Amino acid sequence: MPTTSLDASQVKSMLLAVADAVIAAEPYLSEADRNLGDGDHGIGMARGFNAVKEKIDPLDPATEGVGKLFSSAGMAMISSMGGASGAIFGTLFRDGGKALAAAETLDADGLSKMLSAAADAVMARGKAKPGDKTMVDALHPAAAQAADETDKSIADALQAVATAAEAGRDASKAMIATLGRAKTLGEASIGHPDAGACSIALILRTMSDFAAAQAK
Ligand code: ADP
Ligand code: MG
Repeated sequence: MPTTSLDASQVKSMLLAVADAVIAAEPYLSEADRNLGDGDHGIGMARGFNAVKEKIDPLDPATEGVGKLFSSAGMAMISSMGGASGAIFGTLFRDGGKALAAAETLDADGLSKMLSAAADAVMARGKAKPGDKTMVDALHPAAAQAADETDKSIADALQAVATAAEAGRDASKAMIATLGRAKTLGEASIGHPDAGACSIALILRTMSDFAAAQAK
């Protein structure tokens, strides 16, 4: 029977697993950014997720609640990463967490609320639309998929959402960048996936793998 929802203690462990996965992926994420930008995306993400680990590790999940754990992660990213992506990825976690309000567990409905709020906040903050070849091209389809999965278990919902994010990441290869550093490349940006979209796909796949392992 797949796990219906994750409690705060599981969400804390999941965020720590996401942090470890992003930190381990530093060379891959920087390589993706080297193709289109300045090659520092992995470094910034690793710095941000090291700060997430420091902030989350001492927290008592029972008193924090699931939403607060995500927003605390976002605040840690905003204050440690700096730059465009710090504000953007930090906003994703902070505003996504806020959307969970006082929820005691993370279920598929909460996941949908969180990803919709996160996508809206990121698009308002960075002014990127789907098709601009940014992380929005993985996050927006992930949020749309989550809205179709609200009656599923959290493990099944995350499995579908991670797959949608990976499809979005792959679709970003064919796009021409119109924002950020990659904009100056114009048509030369075709053929490579956006680095931030690679991060989104990795984060959601790690969440999915975590939830699937809980179900066993
Ligand atoms: P920087 O561009 O400052 O070097 P990073 O390399 O860490 O920052 O991150 C680059 C990623 O940030 C891009 O691959 C893209 O996904 C994302 N990004 C850049 N600008 C925006 C924006 N306006 N909206 C959403 N995402 C953006
Ligand atoms: Mg960069």
